Amino acid sequence: MDVKYKIAVLAGDGIGPEVMREAIKVLQAIESKFEIKFEFMECLVGWAGIDATGKALPDETLETCKKADAILFGSVGLPHRDPDLSPENRPERAALLRLRKEFSLFANLRPVRVRPSLFDVCPLKNDRIGSGIDILIVRELTGGLYFGRPKLIEFIDNQLPIKRRERIKRAIDTMTLTETEIENIARVAFNAAQKRNKKVTSIDKANVLENGVLWREVVSKVSNQYPDVKLEHMFVDNAALQLMLKPNQFDVMVCENTFGDILSDEAAALSGSLGMLPSASLGETKGSLTFGLYEPAGGSAPDIAGKNIANPIAQILSAALMLRYSFGQGDSAVAIERAIDNILDARIVTPDICPKQNQHTYKVVSTTQMGDLIAEEIIKN
Ligand code: NAD
Repeated sequence: MDVKYKIAVLAGDGIGPEVMREAIKVLQAIESKFEIKFEFMECLVGWAGIDATGKALPDETLETCKKADAILFGSVGLPHRDPDLSPENRPERAALLRLRKEFSLFANLRPVRVRPSLFDVCPLKNDRIGSGIDILIVRELTGGLYFGRPKLIEFIDNQLPIKRRERIKRAIDTMTLTETEIENIARVAFNAAQKRNKKVTSIDKANVLENGVLWREVVSKVSNQYPDVKLEHMFVDNAALQLMLKPNQFDVMVCENTFGDILSDEAAALSGSLGMLPSASLGETKGSLTFGLYEPAGGSAPDIAGKNIANPIAQILSAALMLRYSFGQGDSAVAIERAIDNILDARIVTPDICPKQNQHTYKVVSTTQMGDLIAEEIIKN
């Protein structure tokens, strides 16, 4: 009998609805090949939500997400309209950050792959890429520097002699991490490494920060439960350098929130386009299901919205991550990833991943055509 999963579909703004349409098309192809069924529960979010109900995350959308097994998210925000709202009501904060908090999505996973067919769009030279790049960045998402308290801007006296003394502003952010937070994120990293190339690089700044000292201690302790996975520690500044010098030394990298934010964007540059990068934000596991929110790493791309030229691969790969991490349906996730590899190997690309060199050897297709081709490839194989 078919297993049925409920997916809250939040397409959002800009290119969100265009790329989401292709992800649904691909999931329908999966339904026809595997014993899986999906119930797609479409909801408003972002400016679509504000225009209809006054809220970036309408109550009805939140209620639907609570009933779902996972959330497939597009993107929210429109730079020409966002400034009209107060910061806390802007779509990214009011919808995306709220969902992360509401569902305690503590682990962010960002896979970065550069396959031989896309070496020409990778900004690194071929000798640095080696046989290809395949990194999974695991970022702690609900603690660290972004959420620590106190967090404020205050007035203090400057330290100049009395005559020149004046009130100046001082900003304070606090990095806090508990043993439990570190343990939880480390486990996600080691579990993922067991299914990949069995290496975890733990990123910290233990030479300067107390947070780094505790991070290193706890990650090392967790690693004892994963004897099949090799652990190495690396300072965050060196990690930023190594990503450019020798990216294929990494398998899984695990980082604090801010470090992960910066390193994952740096790693993203390797793939040549935001249109190639999926992400998963995972919460609690209940039985065989892990609740998660899956979305492309990029935003609403207003510069290309409505033109049918956005790359739908990041959204489609996000759907594949949902199958793997929330539903435990690894085979169907692999079917999507293989189909995408086959299309790219045939040098079929969207404009953002068409290399400047040898352009005539590539076939450039639209958003819709790319979705059709991937869906057909799944059905064919
Ligand atoms: P962006 O990621 O939307 O765009 C940056 C560049 O990448 C643009 O040139 C865009 O065309 C390109 N790009 C992104 N996705 C692409 C795709 N699938 N195919 C081809 N090219 C793609 O970032 P931005 O322009 O800084 O932000 C636009 C809006 O998106 C803002 O309102 C911002 O707040 C919002 N945003 C939302 C999210 C989210 O919903 N998670 C994330 C980032 C930005």
